Amino acid sequence: MAAVENPLLQDFIFPPYDVIEPNHICPAIEALLIELEKDLDELEKTVKPTWPGLVVPLEKIIDRLSVVWGIVNHLNSVKDCPQLRATIQLVQPKKVGFQLKLRQSKLIYMAFKAIRDSSDWENLSDARKRVVDLKLKEAVLYGVSLEDTSRERFNEIEQELEKLAQQFEENILDATKSFEKVITDKKELEGLPSTTLSITAKTAIDKGYENATAEDGPWIITLDGPIYRSVLQHACNRSLREEIFRAYVTRASDGPLNNTPIIERVLELRLEKAKLLGFKNYAEVSLEMKMATVDKAKDLIYKLHEASWGSAIRDLEELRDYAREKGAQEANDLNQWDINFWSERLRESRYDFDEEELRPYFPLPKVMEGLFNLTKKLFGVDIEPADGTAPVWNKDVSFYQVKDSSNAPIAYFYFDPYSRPSEKRGGAWADLVVGRSGVCSSDNTRPRLPITNIVCNLTPPTKDKPSLMTIREVEAVFHEFGHALQHLLTKQDEGLVSGNQGIEWDAVEIPSLFMENWCYQRETILGIAKHYESGEPLPENTSLRILRARTFRAGTLLLRQLRYASVDLELHSTYVPGGLESIYDVDQEIGKRTHPIPLLPEDRFLCSFSHIFADKYAAGYYSYQWAEVISADAFSAFEEAGLENDQSLREMGRKFRETILALGGGKAPNEVFLEFRGREPTPHAFLRYNGLLPTIAAT
Ligand code: ZN
Repeated sequence: MAAVENPLLQDFIFPPYDVIEPNHICPAIEALLIELEKDLDELEKTVKPTWPGLVVPLEKIIDRLSVVWGIVNHLNSVKDCPQLRATIQLVQPKKVGFQLKLRQSKLIYMAFKAIRDSSDWENLSDARKRVVDLKLKEAVLYGVSLEDTSRERFNEIEQELEKLAQQFEENILDATKSFEKVITDKKELEGLPSTTLSITAKTAIDKGYENATAEDGPWIITLDGPIYRSVLQHACNRSLREEIFRAYVTRASDGPLNNTPIIERVLELRLEKAKLLGFKNYAEVSLEMKMATVDKAKDLIYKLHEASWGSAIRDLEELRDYAREKGAQEANDLNQWDINFWSERLRESRYDFDEEELRPYFPLPKVMEGLFNLTKKLFGVDIEPADGTAPVWNKDVSFYQVKDSSNAPIAYFYFDPYSRPSEKRGGAWADLVVGRSGVCSSDNTRPRLPITNIVCNLTPPTKDKPSLMTIREVEAVFHEFGHALQHLLTKQDEGLVSGNQGIEWDAVEIPSLFMENWCYQRETILGIAKHYESGEPLPENTSLRILRARTFRAGTLLLRQLRYASVDLELHSTYVPGGLESIYDVDQEIGKRTHPIPLLPEDRFLCSFSHIFADKYAAGYYSYQWAEVISADAFSAFEEAGLENDQSLREMGRKFRETILALGGGKAPNEVFLEFRGREPTPHAFLRYNGLLPTIAAT
C-alpha cells in the first residue's frame, strides 16, 4: 500500500484511531523512519548552534516519531491482538535504532554544547536553557561519548532491553487472561457484592455459558483487577480467597510465561549499561535525571518507614482482635488473603459504611461532572463533551474539549473508562497524544493544542446501571486526570518541555497525587456523590465517616508502597545479578521490614512489577512517595487559604495552574514548587493526612 494512503502517516488534527489496522503499522513505521533518517542527515549537514539552526528541526523529528509511535503504543495497550504484537516486534528494533542514532549524534551534541558555551546563553529563556541542559545530559546517558565498540555494545543492550520490556508486559497480560475459575454453587461466593456477581456472570456468558445469570450463575472468577480486589475484600470463602491470592501473586512466574529469566536478564543488562557509562550501578544512571539522589531517596524511604512501622503493627493487632471478637477461626493465624477481607469488615464496623453499598452514590457520569466542576472552580476552565469530533478506538471512549475563560478550546482529551480484560492492559494511566508546541503547529498564529488519553479499568455499566464506583476508583480517576491536567493546561510553548515532558521523573506524580487529595475534601465528595437512581446526595454523616476513614490502616498501606520502592532501589543498586542471592531473596528480606505478616515464600509479585521492568519507573518507584510528600504540601496551601472559601480557592488554584500545571519541564521542579509555595516542601502535611504524625507523649 502506498505510504500516502496510510492513515498513520497522514496529517491530522485528531489521530484516525477508527481506521488504523495492525497491517498499517509496519509500512507506516518503515516509511516514516526513512523520511526521518533523511531529515536527520540534513540536520547534521546544516546544523548551527542556534535555536532555528538546531532545536527547531530537531524538535520536528522527535515530535513526528513520538506522535506516530505514541499511537502504535496506545493501541498496543488498549487493543492488544496477536497481529499487533507481531507487527510491533518487527518494527520496534528499527524504531529503537533510529532513536539511538538521534540521541548519539555527535554533531547535534556539539551544537548544544556550543549554545551552552556561547555568549548568548544568558539571554536564553529559562525553558530554552532547560532544553539545552536536558539534551546534553540525555546524550551522555545515551552514550554519545562512548568509543565505537562500547557504543555498539550499548546499542545492543538498548535493543534487547526494549524487547524484554515488551515481552514482560505480554506475559503478564497472557498469564492474567489464562486464569479462570468457574463456580456453579452460589454458596462459594457468599459475601460478594451484586456488582461482582453481575460481572462474573457476564464473563461466563462471554465465555460460552449462554444462560449464566448474576442470580443463578455460573460465574467465572478471573484475575482482572476489579474482580480480584472484590474477592479478596468480600468473599467469606477463605479457601477461594487463598486460591485467588496465590494465583495473583504468582502470575507470570512459571512455564512459558515465566518472567523470572526476563527480570534477571534486564538487571544484568542495566548494570552492564551503567558500567559502560562509568556509573557504579543502574540506580545512579536513573537518578541522574531526577530531583533526588540515591541517598536522598533511600533517606526518605527510611524516614517514612520509621513513621509507619509502629502504626502497621497496631493495625495488625486490631485486626486480630476484631477477627477474634467475630469468632473467626483464622484470627490467630491471619494470612495475606485474610487482610483485605478483615480490614474491610473492621472498616465497616468502625466507620459504619460499606464501600460496596456506597457504589450507587458514585455513578461515573456524576463523578466526572463533579471533577469537571472542581476543575472549573480551581483552574477556571470549562470541560465540554465533544463526542463525534474525533475518531475513537472503542465505542465506550468519550472525547472532551477544554475551554478557557474566553471560551476558546485550549486542549482535548479522550477518556476510555471500562475494563476490557481481553484486549486492554490493567491499571490506569494518562498518556500524551500530542503536546503543546509552537514549532509543531500547523497554524503560524498559535501553538498546537495538547491532546491526551485517560485510560482506566472501571466496572463496565450494565443494561440498567451506569458504572458505579468505589471511593478508591474515584481516587484513581482523579489521579489520572491530574496527570492529564499537566498536559492540558500547560502554557509552555517550547514543545520539548511542555506538559510533563522534560520534568524530572520523581516530580511527575505531583499533580496526580495532588488531585487525589480532593477526594477527601467534604465539598468535593458532596458535589460528586449523588445516588444514580434517586439523585439523592450522600448523607452528610456518611461523607464525614468517609473522611475520617482516610487514615484507616494508612501505615500498613504506606509500608506496602515502601516495599515496592525499596526492592526497586535494592535491585538496581546493591543487588548482584547472577550472585548468591536471588531477586526473591531481596524481596523477602525487604518484606520482613514492610509486612507485619511475612510474605509468602512463593510470592512472585516481581514477575508482574511492570512499573520497573516494562515502564519508566526503574530505580524510580520511590517517586510516588517523593511526589506524595510534595503534593500533600501543595494541597495544604489550599487548606491554609480556606477550603470553604471559593474566592481563596480560586486564587490558590490560579497560582497552582500558573506554576505546577503551566511551566512543564521548562523550569526545575524544586524552583517551580518554591514559586508556588514560597518555601521548600516539608513532609508534615503528608504525615498528618495519613495520621502518622508522632503523638507527643504527655509528661
Ligand atoms: Zn500516576
